[in-house]
Amino acid sequence: MGRSENSDSQGTGSDARRLKQRLESLAAAGVVDLPRAKVKTVAKRAPQSDPVAAPMAVECTPRSPLTHDELQSRSGSLALLSQDVATCRRCEELACARTQTVFGAGPVDARICFLGEAPGADEDASGQPFVGRAGQLLTKIIESCTLTREQVYILNVLKCRPPQNRPPLPAEVANCRGYFQKQLEILAPDYICCLGTSAAQALLESTETIGNLRKRWFTHGKAQVICTYHPSYLLRNPSAKRDVWEDMKMLMAQLGVELH
Ligand code: URA
Repeated sequence: MGRSENSDSQGTGSDARRLKQRLESLAAAGVVDLPRAKVKTVAKRAPQSDPVAAPMAVECTPRSPLTHDELQSRSGSLALLSQDVATCRRCEELACARTQTVFGAGPVDARICFLGEAPGADEDASGQPFVGRAGQLLTKIIESCTLTREQVYILNVLKCRPPQNRPPLPAEVANCRGYFQKQLEILAPDYICCLGTSAAQALLESTETIGNLRKRWFTHGKAQVICTYHPSYLLRNPSAKRDVWEDMKMLMAQLGVELH
């Protein structure tokens, strides 16, 4: 979809569509309450799962479930943060070109967060992370882990699409650092899986290659961090899928799930 189709000059139909997308993004990001404004959240359709890759979903709820108040508090904090993100213009080039920001999606009590690089064209158009080809592959990876997308939280380092999907610039990562770190602090996952070099280097503040960062455990706050190849890389290098499978086995073993 061309960006102009979403521009403000398209009138009420376009405004309504953009508002609907924004509300869907917020709902998907775990924001069920907005401060002040009364809105209806739109339920997300469950993705079709590959029956071969996803025989069944494992329980992936926190060991001690969050109370209603804790869930509300996380949801409220994410709502406020997503409002800041939506109006951010720190990276002028990205802010000028974006259709919308892409905050993240998933339950606020997810034990696992997948951290990607930045939105692409499909994500910029929809407001949802990982919905294009790379996203479809990520869904398959998640389902191969006997999980569903609805059980994990998915976010990116950058909240805006870089032009031509180029890698984020160091200054852009620095501008967005406060957002993704705060988001992770609110979500307090047990595990963070970094997808690709940009995510791994940004989160771990490292300059090591993804090849060196794989197959090791790191910590970020209270979360255990694992790094693997980005799904886009797998689309170009399908033979690396077996490495990602090894990484997923390592991750899921921590959750008591043995993958074969
Ligand atoms: N690649 C990413 O890193 N994130 C997305 O949301 C989509 C593609």
